[in-house]
Amino acid sequence: MSKTIIVSNRLPVKITEKDGEYVLNPSEGGLATGLGSIYRQGYNIWIGWPGLEVNEAYQPQIREQLTEMNLMPVYLTQEEINNYYEGFSNEILWPVFHYMSVYARYEQVYWDYYYQVNSKFRDVVLQVAEPGDVIWIHDYQLLLLPGMIRAEAPDVAIGYFQHIPFPSFELFRLIPWRAELLEGMLGADLLGFHTFDDSHHFLNAVTRLLPVNASANVVMANDRAVIAETFPMGIDNAKFEELSDDPEVLRQLESLKEAFGDTHMVLSIDRLDYSKGILQRLQAFELFLQLYPEYVEKVILYMIVVPSRDTVTQYKELRDAIDRLAGSINARFRTINWHPINYFYRSFPVETLAALYNFADIGLVTPMRDGMNLVSKEYVASRKHNNGVLILSEMAGASKELQDALIVNPNNIGAIARALHEALNMPLQEQTRRMKQMRQVVAKFNIAHWVKLFMARLQEVKQLQQSML
Ligand code: UDP
Repeated sequence: MSKTIIVSNRLPVKITEKDGEYVLNPSEGGLATGLGSIYRQGYNIWIGWPGLEVNEAYQPQIREQLTEMNLMPVYLTQEEINNYYEGFSNEILWPVFHYMSVYARYEQVYWDYYYQVNSKFRDVVLQVAEPGDVIWIHDYQLLLLPGMIRAEAPDVAIGYFQHIPFPSFELFRLIPWRAELLEGMLGADLLGFHTFDDSHHFLNAVTRLLPVNASANVVMANDRAVIAETFPMGIDNAKFEELSDDPEVLRQLESLKEAFGDTHMVLSIDRLDYSKGILQRLQAFELFLQLYPEYVEKVILYMIVVPSRDTVTQYKELRDAIDRLAGSINARFRTINWHPINYFYRSFPVETLAALYNFADIGLVTPMRDGMNLVSKEYVASRKHNNGVLILSEMAGASKELQDALIVNPNNIGAIARALHEALNMPLQEQTRRMKQMRQVVAKFNIAHWVKLFMARLQEVKQLQQSML
């Protein structure tokens, strides 16, 4: 019987250490939920890093606990985490793939560790992989892994999905190890991306940098047909619909109503990242208050920024700049009873997010670049009464699907300010028409559908390869 092996940088588990004891809890991210239907079954397994450096003495014990959850660890040292994960992945691939190449630091040592850690993942995969197995690798931390597995185990099906954008050739070509990265990716049989542009950019990079032939979305790599295709990822929409009736969510919704009454809420939720356009969004809100002073005391921006990578200089600087700008806007516009921005630098439980999604009149999502952006879909899924307006950046993958949002260029702060005004004045009938359309898209192309589609397509690609022999 063949099995499915999921591989990602992080395992879907949260491990906490307390007095030398390790406690394991499943994490509830969208991907973990979506893939839960796969890795929890039979002999299927999920391989990845458990999320912290584990003392060698405790490794066997944790491995055993993980096995019970169908999970298998790749243990990494602090040095490996620093260079492979924080270095190559987050200081080279992340900025370049998000079109911020000025932030990239092309350090040789990052590459050496990236190669080494991908090999480490390969060794763990090879311990369990058997001919006929299906291996589904996730995201940019593991670009070399498909090729490394293919070299040792040619008789497996390998899928790869990239959760972040794939940049245009002019960006991708900047990376010193660009050819090696593409060769690694071509070890897969099926490569999935969020948008048509991402798939197209990948195919373009392959044909310009490697001696391979491609026709439409099929690349011939060592006489094997490799397919690159678009699979926009969805969310667990039912979870967000159901949360609207959860007693805790309803309780928090009441508190929001008490605190804010008739004030219109504009909601903004992101991780701290330069790709999210947070500063430009604040500038747009400031401009909005300047252009439309009649909204003073009538609107607030509720802005959650989730701490992330804030030991890295650029992130720390961004955090300071957000603090300063939010502070100065509040100082400039506040009145005795009102201040325009409620800013939180921390994360919140999903019940709080759900209450906010339910309460906010406007979801304001304006990243400079985003592979997909799940917050925009979560806002839509939560709007059970079909009211509310989503303002969405055209640079988010989600904008290709959520076409009934007010779509904006995130660099155009004037356009964002006007979109806020338009959203606040949109007749209920039009809000409903747009929201209904978007809710249908989010419901139909949900996470379960995405998983099913990718897995089915991988099987088809294997059959196609057989028929070409
Ligand atoms: N999120 C969270 N806690 C918070 C704020 C956000 O768990 O306090 C979640 C949010 O529900 C969403 C995810 O973080 O599922 C963010 O995903 P998105 O694709 O929008 O951005 P990413 O952080 O992956 O770049």
